[in-house]
Amino acid sequence: SPSILKRGGPKNLPIATHLIDERDFDINKPRLVILGSGWGAISVIKGLEKDKYHITVISPQNYFLFTPLLPSATVGTLETRSLLEPVRSLIKGISAHFLEAKATDICFNDKLIELSPVDESSEPFYVPYDKLVIAVGSLSNTFGIEGMEYCHFLKTINDARKIRKKIMDNFEKASLPTTPPKERKSLLSFVVCGGGPTGVEFAAELYDFLTEDVVRYFPSILRNEVQVSIIQGQDHILNTYDAKISDFAEKKFRRDNINVVTNARVQKIEPNHIIYKMKKSEDVKELDYGLVLWSTGIDMNPLTKTISEKLEDQKNTRALITDNRLRLKGVSDSSVYAIGDCSTIENPKLVQQLMQFFIDADKDKNGRLSYNEFQALAKKIGRRYPITKSYLKKADTLFARYDQDKSGTLELEELRTMFEDIDKKLTSLPATAQVAYQQGKYLGKKLNQIATAQKTKIFPPPSDYSVNTDNPESDVDDLLPPFSYAHFGSLAYIGNAAVADFGTGWTWMGGLPAVYLWRSVYFSEQVSFRTRALLALDWSKRCLFGRDISK
Ligand code: FAD
Ligand code: MG
Ligand code: MG
Ligand code: MG
Ligand code: MG
Repeated sequence: SPSILKRGGPKNLPIATHLIDERDFDINKPRLVILGSGWGAISVIKGLEKDKYHITVISPQNYFLFTPLLPSATVGTLETRSLLEPVRSLIKGISAHFLEAKATDICFNDKLIELSPVDESSEPFYVPYDKLVIAVGSLSNTFGIEGMEYCHFLKTINDARKIRKKIMDNFEKASLPTTPPKERKSLLSFVVCGGGPTGVEFAAELYDFLTEDVVRYFPSILRNEVQVSIIQGQDHILNTYDAKISDFAEKKFRRDNINVVTNARVQKIEPNHIIYKMKKSEDVKELDYGLVLWSTGIDMNPLTKTISEKLEDQKNTRALITDNRLRLKGVSDSSVYAIGDCSTIENPKLVQQLMQFFIDADKDKNGRLSYNEFQALAKKIGRRYPITKSYLKKADTLFARYDQDKSGTLELEELRTMFEDIDKKLTSLPATAQVAYQQGKYLGKKLNQIATAQKTKIFPPPSDYSVNTDNPESDVDDLLPPFSYAHFGSLAYIGNAAVADFGTGWTWMGGLPAVYLWRSVYFSEQVSFRTRALLALDWSKRCLFGRDISK
């Protein structure tokens, strides 16, 4: 019982210094706590070596959710359980503990996390940490629009279950002889707000379901009254993808009679209809609905808001700010990291370091940079700030473009113009599983290295990557390289076809083979053989018998 724990911390709560069994505890081993059980957290866990830390994983959900296939669960293409992987089986290999609880606050000075058990009748308590990884994900951004209580979201497994039930409820109700035609029509109007990959994939899954299953079991009059709409704020759906891809997707949707409305801003959701305004003509329109899916970007969850308000260096944006080693800004001792959707990496402001870079690079001290001096500088910046790499890759064209007076050298003002342009072009990484996964992998590896260095007192030699910190104590983390992201392309399912954007202008789209590519990519990313088997069974079942249309 909690009474055996001593109490303390700012709120005098029980402190879980030892978890369950005291005999397991080795005081020389640092305590690592991971908050979350999503993409970021799971990939940290997969990279950690056994015995380097006392590891505790904390999440209100005792499973990992394979989000890329979540839209398929809303219409029964896949069973919801097939997308889940128990956390306890994922952490078995590294002898970690799991606590089903929600972190509500963090006391950075005392290094204590405040937890609320999911069962609200249990008392809150503290868990101490030496190293902390925050990977708690995000919430849907509602932009303060009225009527969110009438919307469905698609983030959690329960969201998918609710949508699935609602779709079937609507079809059954529409089939009743007592339902007036006007109501029938609005029950069968499915509206998606947001033309990003989640909204698009949901629309595509819904369309497949209608054409493959609904036609088989429901009166044909219903089929003709079904309407799927997508309302998108930007010029195009999938607007973060290559233009060819959004074009392909829009054409396919129009062929399928999916109503794609672009350049429209949702103003309000009423219980039975949605009100939106066309951006150009300023026309205000209404659309009756039977189900609305809201999927328009991400926002902070309560924990990340609390943290952000607490720390001076956090500027309350949409996410927690980290440096390029994924350390939370505002905590100076490298004890706290944030990864995935809840975080964003602060971009370097090259201009702020202009003088330093210029003086260091000007080896012959003649007050200007020769091509060779510039080339070395470009390399150095690219290594230190991997996000700038793509801009600095073609040193020769850059040099020629910014040598405005054609002197064959770069003067300080010329370099300033270049740095300002690069600073402007740097964008933050997208909130995707791909980013969270790579960040987790990087962090898992790094945490192993840090533990080894601290235990053996043999520190890695300072690399090119090392930065000058004001921190006088030598910090292992500063000696190791920063995080660098490699984009492996984006995929979206658009209904019997998949589109892929592999960056660098290389795009790909197509029919059935595309679907199999899409599926196999996610197959191989899938976490365990067990889950893989479940998914394969679901797909075979669907091919043989169609989707399960019971609730
Ligand atoms: P999450 O995976 O959301 O995990 C957050 C975890 O933190 C959860 O386990 C949650 O229970 C836990 N948590 C929340 N609050 C607390 C708290 N207070 N204390 C402790 N734990 C807490 N990305 C792609 O790259 N490709 C795709 O095809 C793709 N498809 C998607 C489809 C859908 C429907 C959705 C919703 C997302 C999709 N994404 C895709 C995006 C991707 O899922 C996210 O970017 C990714 O999940 C982010 O990982 P994360 O670890 O930051 O957060
Ligand atoms: Mg996570
Ligand atoms: Mg992020
Ligand atoms: Mg010079
Ligand atoms: Mg010049």
